[in-house]
Amino acid sequence: MNCNIVKDLIPLYIDGCCSEESGRIIEEHIKECDNCIKLIDDMKAPDDIVFVLEQPKSFSKLNDWKASVLQSVLLFVSFALITIGVALEARTPSGIGNGFWALNLVIPSTGFMLSLANWYFVKVYKSRKIFSNASLLITLAITLCAYVWSMFNYQVNLFDLFAGKDFSGVIEVAYSSLLFSGIGIVLTVAFCVLSKFLSNRYAKMLGKE
Ligand SMILES: [Zn+2]
Repeated sequence: MNCNIVKDLIPLYIDGCCSEESGRIIEEHIKECDNCIKLIDDMKAPDDIVFVLEQPKSFSKLNDWKASVLQSVLLFVSFALITIGVALEARTPSGIGNGFWALNLVIPSTGFMLSLANWYFVKVYKSRKIFSNASLLITLAITLCAYVWSMFNYQVNLFDLFAGKDFSGVIEVAYSSLLFSGIGIVLTVAFCVLSKFLSNRYAKMLGKE
């Protein structure tokens, strides 16, 4: 067999793309031809180096993909919770129950969803720890702002609450509002913890130290 023909087939042979027959011909040929063995070795070597270099790259690409999936899923879930809360709130007849779903589901979910915007700025943070702590604080801050807003929206008057002359009245109001929005408080705490934990995982997937 002519070396030139074998040389043409060698790239296909290395990639495993040539036919069985061509493969046999090449293997027969290189038993006797040092030049072609050397050529195969030379052609294989750079491929191996490329493979070693590319592996961490594809690994990090997979993790980038996982991170964006995590962020998208969380956006979707928190948006779905807000939608459910808004729908339930809209169905609540006017009266004492008004605001229940807003306080207990819509506001905590909104705080969490809006805090996810901070994840786009993960590169700005110096470390994963700072980023995850910031995520927790942002979730808490947005949620608290929304609760303050809800006090105006549902006309909860702080002056009535704290300037009451009758102290037992204040406790009563505080106690009944705690009962009314207790689920919301628990959800807010849960979302803050989740925010810290998941943002940490997210940053880790992106290879942040
Ligand atoms: Zn040869």
